[in-house]
Amino acid sequence: MNELTTGQVAPPEKPQPRITVCAEPYWRHAKDNKLVLPYCSECEASFYYPRLWCPSCFNQDISWKQLSGKGKVYSFSVIYQSPLPSYQADLPYVLAIIELDEGPRMMANILNCDVDTVSVNMAVEVLFEERGDMKIPQFQPL
Ligand SMILES: [Zn+2]
Repeated sequence: MNELTTGQVAPPEKPQPRITVCAEPYWRHAKDNKLVLPYCSECEASFYYPRLWCPSCFNQDISWKQLSGKGKVYSFSVIYQSPLPSYQADLPYVLAIIELDEGPRMMANILNCDVDTVSVNMAVEVLFEERGDMKIPQFQPL
């Protein structure tokens, strides 16, 4: 148990992502505060989530490209009840689909905002939430 000297019990830590072979560069660059995604040379486009082939043309000639980290809210939901105790202190929080300026859409939390001010098409930028020895790409209002 995570008992503090005050007698309070610390909340459990948030889960860390499991790093797969195809997503390892994504997490490694996130530690350096860089948002990188796989890039297809045939489609000339980045895609999310990381895979070993392009989801549009199945090309396996994939490289990694740094993105601007800027985008807009495509869709979102305000979470008022968490299924995990580790998120209890964050309630309410925003879970969103972000459409990056370069095109791909990715799911993340929107941090550093009043949940009542979030709207579709709101401009956001990436930030990197420290979690254990990892950093998680999240977003905040621009
Ligand atoms: Zn492609």
